[in-house]
Amino acid sequence: MIILEHVEKSYSIGTEKVHVLNDVSLEIADNSYVSIVGPSGSGKSTLLHTIGGLEPIDKGKIYVDGAEVHTMKDADSAQLRLNHIGYVFQQFQLLSTATALENVMMPLLTIFRSKEVRDRAEHALERVGLSHRMTHLPSRLSGGEQQRVAIARALVTNPSIILADEPTGNLDSKTGENIIQLLEDIHDTHNVTIVLITHDDEIAARTTRRIRLLDGKIHEDDTEENRFDKTFK
Ligand code: ADP
Repeated sequence: MIILEHVEKSYSIGTEKVHVLNDVSLEIADNSYVSIVGPSGSGKSTLLHTIGGLEPIDKGKIYVDGAEVHTMKDADSAQLRLNHIGYVFQQFQLLSTATALENVMMPLLTIFRSKEVRDRAEHALERVGLSHRMTHLPSRLSGGEQQRVAIARALVTNPSIILADEPTGNLDSKTGENIIQLLEDIHDTHNVTIVLITHDDEIAARTTRRIRLLDGKIHEDDTEENRFDKTFK
């Protein structure tokens, strides 16, 4: 479960202060499938980063699976991400000098013994359909395959939440569709909450809840139920 209460976030650029999140309150239940949409600069990535404890907030409260993210020090928020959250980025963010398998092993290195790390990473790569690409460097993989490696890396710690920042933004539409199907399959089979940022209306329409940001505020929060209400009432 993700809870945000009256979250405020600003960045200082020189003497200027830019308010990026303005009084954002939000609850995302376990096993949700949510998209965050809105124009460029509306605060979508910042919202995702604050949930993952990657960006401190100025005011308000954030809870992830009961943990108080807003009071966490860096080491605690790293632990939170390790135990609860998998991240997927538009640019894949793989280590270019490491193979697919090594990239997926990375988050586990401090937690498990080497045999278990390897077994888990292999299993995660199988899960995303890449058992035949384990020893490839990212440069030898297609964009879609690189994103699958990144999803395996997000999945390997058994998170309850996957935060995906425009996961299809660097992919052609067919490959993007396959990546969304994979995330949906993970959502269905592992009961993982997926929160994804997208500019693609078709992808947003597939999610069961669509949150639209405008100037750092929640402009619209559209669930399947109220879409139904709007259509039939
Ligand atoms: P979106 O994901 O909707 O495009 P962002 O959350 O990336 O929006 O950015 C919202 C605003 O915050 C933008 O005006 C952006 O320039 C600003 N911003 C984001 N990150 C930083 C940063 N590290 N330092 C200063 N300003 C930032």
